[in-house]
Formats: sequence, C-alpha cells, structure tokens
Amino acid sequence: MPQVVDFDLTKLRDPALRPIGEKLRRGERLTETDGVVLFRSPDLLGVGSMADASNRARHGDQVTFAANQHINPTNICVLRKTCVFCGYARLPKEEGAYRYSLEQVMAEAEQAANGITREFHIVGGLDMQTGLAYYTTMFRALKAKLPHVHIKALTAVEIAHIARIEKMSWADVLVALREAGLDTMPGGGAETFSEAVRDEIADKKLGGADYIGVHRTAHTLGIRTNCTMLYGHVETIEDRMAHLKMLRDLQDETGGFLAYIPLAYHPDDNELGEKLGRKGTSSTGFDDLRNLAVGRLYLDNIEHIKSHWIMVTPFVTQTALHFGVNDIEGTVVREKIYHAVGATTPQGMTLPALLSLIRGAGKVPAERDSFYKVLRVFGPDDTGEAEGADAGAAAELATA
Ligand code: SF4
Repeated sequence: MPQVVDFDLTKLRDPALRPIGEKLRRGERLTETDGVVLFRSPDLLGVGSMADASNRARHGDQVTFAANQHINPTNICVLRKTCVFCGYARLPKEEGAYRYSLEQVMAEAEQAANGITREFHIVGGLDMQTGLAYYTTMFRALKAKLPHVHIKALTAVEIAHIARIEKMSWADVLVALREAGLDTMPGGGAETFSEAVRDEIADKKLGGADYIGVHRTAHTLGIRTNCTMLYGHVETIEDRMAHLKMLRDLQDETGGFLAYIPLAYHPDDNELGEKLGRKGTSSTGFDDLRNLAVGRLYLDNIEHIKSHWIMVTPFVTQTALHFGVNDIEGTVVREKIYHAVGATTPQGMTLPALLSLIRGAGKVPAERDSFYKVLRVFGPDDTGEAEGADAGAAAELATA
C-alpha cells in the first residue's frame, strides 16, 4: 500500500512532477493520470529519484536474486501465426520445433542435482500434445528427484490452454497441477491488455480480462503469481496505464502478486519487428528505466519490482537498481525465449558476476527463495565460495 516517502522535492526539474512528489510525501496513492505524467516527463532522473526513494523506504539497499533455472519444454504453439511479436514459437513440423520428453526435461534439470538451483521457471508454447498429464508427470518427477526445488510454472495463457484442451475449468487444472508439485506461477503472457493492441499483435491470445481471471483463480486457491507487461511495441502510454490499473486492482482484491516485471519487446526475428521496420533495434535504456520506475511508483501494493537482465542487459539492470528495482532475475540457465528474438545477452550469469553487478551499484546482494524470503545476505568480502552441499547460490550458478 502507499507509504509516506521522505522525498526531496528539489530533485525534480519538471514542475509537472511536483504534485506527484507531494503525494508521495503524504503517502497518497497515484492515479492513472499521474502515471501518464510520469511516462511523459522528460525528467527521467526526477521520476527515477522518486521511485528510488519509494524503493528504499521498502527495501533499503538490499537487492535480491534467486538461484533459478529456466526450462522451456516445448516451442510448439498453436498461436505461431497470430502472435506476431513472438519469434520463439514453431508449428509442429516446422524446422526448429521441439518438444522435450520427460527424460530430456530431467536431463536439463540435472544441474539442480548439485544443490545449487532453488527454483525451476518452466514455460513454453501452447502445444496440443502437452496437456495436463504431460505437466503433472513432469512436476511429480522433478519433485521426486529434487524435492527442495520450487516449481514456478505455466503462464495464465498456458493454464487456459490446458483447460481448453482437457475441457476442464481453470481451477480444476490449477488444483491438479498443485497436487503434482506446482508452487507458484510466472507472470508472462500478459503482453499489453488493450484490446486494440491485442488485435494488432496477438489477436487469438488469451485476453486481458481472462489473464486477470486465471490469476484471480490462482490467488483464490492460494497460489501466488507474478505479473508482467510487454512494452515498446505498438502500445500507447494510456494503454500502459490501463494495464497497470488492472494489475493494481487485482492486487487490491487478492494480494496474490509477488512481483511485477516489465518486459521489453525485442523486434528481431518476428513479423511485428519487420512490419514496424525496427529490426536490429530494441527498447531504449530510457524507456526500460522509466517502465521500472513507474511500476514502482504506481503499483504501491506490489512489494517487489524485478528487472529481467536477459532482456534489458546487465548494464541497464544495474542502473535500474537506482530506479525502483529491488530484485534481479538472477541466474537463468539456458533461457531460450528472448534469445529466439534477438537478445544478445549471455544465457546465464555466474554468482561472482551477479554479486559484482549489485555491489557495483552500491547495493547489498542477498539470495532469496521463491516467496522472497531472504536466505543469505552477502557481506562486502563474501565471494560466494561454496560451503558444502547446502551452500545454495554459493557456487558457480551458470555458464555464461
Ligand atoms: S507468444 Fe506464447 S502463445 Fe504466442 S506464439 Fe509465442 S509461445 Fe505461442
């Protein structure tokens, strides 16, 4: 909820930001109109300084990360032709199409067997052959072999897809998945909720109201989730704020969101990028930082704001630690989805590199679990060397 933030108004060069700064100082909630002002102001440092003050009031100098591993079990997707911003999906017989067997999933998960990984982040395409049994079998096998590893899996879009092909309700699918080992859900698949935008970039994909509906169902069942927004394609500033309002409203209702993650659109290797003539370009650092900062300021009821370094580069993520961000998508092994659309970042980051990135911003690194409970704070001289089998992130986490 809104907090009283001790903020120095003289940091604002844009007079339009002053009423927003005063609201922060009074602990008042920002409106969508305030959000539009924040997005339009040329005073990025002013916007960032307010987000930074708000973040520090919640989290001080601590920046968290999780030792996680991404697994993308299939890139086969029935919406291959209609999500024009996506370069990851393939039709079943198309070159590059893949669907993991259970053995392949387990092999990819093996890195966790040494006690390093604490979370699997499992998302993929809408494959007609990967129904409920595919995932319940996978989750049971993962939990049997690696019971300590948290399973964060399946976007709202995937849940709705499984429900449709199994002719089940969202709630029944979620209950079955939870019984098999699902712990939380990621926030992907939201894109931008505006119907006009979806008509242009993803006209057959689960709509905004249903995305919210699946998350509401999950929250009602006690399953915590994340939420996202894809920005930097054809959406307007007003579309962004309408999207954020829907997220904030659901959070007021359920309190089930753990974190908000704005996701930058990548225009390479997808139809939309060609149509927009933006091949080879990506979102700007300016827009990346602004989206994170506005997320921190407007979403006053979501505790954590995460920067996804795979998408915006480690350099922008480091800077974002002064623009309202308190959590980094930290150690992502073999990420495929954003690399399929031109992300040039490494596919994983070592623990020393991650510690150095956080410390370089003058912050204090801390490893967390999937519910954001801090497991280990890394002091200034802590190199993260392993201390036995239970060292968690205190070892090399991924190959770059
Ligand atoms: S964005 Fe998701 S639903 Fe759409 S084509 Fe890509 S994988 Fe399929």
